Amino acid sequence: MSPKDQIRYNHASYTKVKFTMRKPLVAGNWKMNGSLKDVGALAESLKKGLAHQSQVEVAVFPSFIHIPQVEQILTGSPIVWGAQDLYIGQSGAFTGEVSGSMLADLGCTYVLVGHSERRQVFHEDLGLISAKFKAAQNANIRPILCVGETLEERENGKTEEIIKEQLNSVIEASGIEAFKSAVVAYEPVWAIGTGKTASPEQAQEVHAFIRWLFAKQSVDVGNSLRILYGGSVKADNAQGLFAKPDIDGGLVGGASLDAAGFLAIVKAALQKTE
Ligand code: PEP
Repeated sequence: MSPKDQIRYNHASYTKVKFTMRKPLVAGNWKMNGSLKDVGALAESLKKGLAHQSQVEVAVFPSFIHIPQVEQILTGSPIVWGAQDLYIGQSGAFTGEVSGSMLADLGCTYVLVGHSERRQVFHEDLGLISAKFKAAQNANIRPILCVGETLEERENGKTEEIIKEQLNSVIEASGIEAFKSAVVAYEPVWAIGTGKTASPEQAQEVHAFIRWLFAKQSVDVGNSLRILYGGSVKADNAQGLFAKPDIDGGLVGGASLDAAGFLAIVKAALQKTE
């Protein structure tokens, strides 16, 4: 970090936000995985393993097709569910798509927006991602906005520039206050599904930058915004990451498909509350 950056990280509005306690969130992104049987067993195990804890919020993100089953299993459990995507239209001739109001109808709490796989594999651009963020809020679903740089961007010193661009396009479209009900996930693309995790220090540095960006515009939003880390989070690295002051939990892909591993990650987040 350059001396100029150190001054910026100690900016007055950032200093005000640094000691706030936010309820940790651990989110399991199941991606395009599992059969009815596997997903049912996973949801049952999580329900059993998390029946009595409320200090960490836990959310799972099954594929669309598994949502009704998971929703049924999780009834009466503190675990909430979200969707991995949504479309910007409300209804109509959009073959293959699912709208926010359809998800809300089933009791959806969260939706992932701007996941790097959507940005890269499905070519979602900043405009579409901003529109999806807005569509989620219009349907009363809380967006988890995913941002992060590629390895090339990091190596060229562009991490902050990229993240700022990804966040600003949504802030400009929806306004800063929209983030009172949203979550941000910092997911360096080079760490997703690769087994390479950002070190706790690397992740904290970017999380602090993200919080500072919000706090500059609204101390309240900077204060309350939960910023999750995602990218090869596992039972054995979660505790180090979650111990950092601006990391409020994790967005977990691969490791969320194993109930014992995911429960261990939730346990690591629980330590943040002690
Ligand atoms: C993700 O899909 O958001 C993710 C972080 O995946 P993984 O944990 O497998 O890197």
